[in-house]
Amino acid sequence: MKAKDILKTMKPYKPGKGIEEVKKEFGLERIVKLASNENPNGFSPKVKEELPKLISKLEIYPDGYAAAIRKKVAEFISVDEEQLIFGNGSDEVVQIICRTFLEPGSNTIMATPTFPQYRHNALIEGAEVREVPLVEGHHDLEEMLSQIDSETRVLWICTPNNPTGVHINETTLKSVLDRVPDHVLVVLDEAYFEYVEADDFFDSLSVIDQYSNLMVLRTFSKAYGLAGLRIGYGVAQNNLIQLLEPAREPFNTSTVAQAAAILALDDQDFIEKSFEENINNKKALMEFCEEQGLTYFDSQANFLLIHLPMSGDEMFEYLLSKGFIVRSGEALGLPNSIRLTVGKKEDMQRIQEEMKIKLNSGAR
Ligand SMILES: *Cc1c(COP(=O)(O)O)cnc(C)c1O
Repeated sequence: MKAKDILKTMKPYKPGKGIEEVKKEFGLERIVKLASNENPNGFSPKVKEELPKLISKLEIYPDGYAAAIRKKVAEFISVDEEQLIFGNGSDEVVQIICRTFLEPGSNTIMATPTFPQYRHNALIEGAEVREVPLVEGHHDLEEMLSQIDSETRVLWICTPNNPTGVHINETTLKSVLDRVPDHVLVVLDEAYFEYVEADDFFDSLSVIDQYSNLMVLRTFSKAYGLAGLRIGYGVAQNNLIQLLEPAREPFNTSTVAQAAAILALDDQDFIEKSFEENINNKKALMEFCEEQGLTYFDSQANFLLIHLPMSGDEMFEYLLSKGFIVRSGEALGLPNSIRLTVGKKEDMQRIQEEMKIKLNSGAR
């Protein structure tokens, strides 16, 4: 059998250690996962309450057009229903974009480090991947623009960026959009949109009608807390959505995910509460970093990229032994750092105590 050559150079996605695995390894009762930017408050209690009633007829295929959630999202973000495409997580929308636009001979431009699925899917399609290093956690947008040529198909911009949390302001992004040539699709990944506090954050949806080559990605996996159900979406002009539709699997979002997303959108109190708590707990974490002399990137998301006077792996291993799963910077391409999801207040106080012990232990 012969697989695509490129796949031999690629590794399957390696998920972080599982909770049960860590419990067993260290004989711990309780594990706190702060590695994947999941919502520490779980998901809307209204979804929990109502969902069982909505699950029936599982023998029937889901609505491939996702009509009900489509109507709901269209109303919620004030776009036409035809301006949406749903995916099995926004991950799948990334995959659909790559299937639609990328092939050998074409190229695509992104930051590094950024969300790894852009690169991963682009490579599988045989495209050349042009990665432009972040500068102080920020996209180097001028350099990204300068790498565009006639074979460039997709420019990926993640704001706030995963794994740095840094956002791009309105003036800057507008100026980028005005300079990207029409043959290049600009994907704005806004997976952490609901957590953004900055006044100068770009209201991308308000300009969707002005740019035929703009696509915005949103997800129910982060603030909405539905990562386990897999549903996200893309917003663009209808012509662009029509280009993508043939590359989408017919029944790509499940009946349960569609129903839950509708209920989740109705519970904006839950989102507001998650937003407020994130702001407060993130602020406390930043204060802790300052006390400890640690620098970090300014984050508009629900995680903080913290620089350390030791390897990220060393801090990761120590915290793991104390029952906290975090993300080591080594794994993310940012050595001597960790990415910490902002969790519950009590857990953040405990992890800060543990970090303090490790930082002051002197043992290297
Ligand atoms: C988590 C994340 C996603 C993917 O979320 P889905 O669960 O696939 O919807 C997309 N982009 C970024 C930047 C993320 O951090």
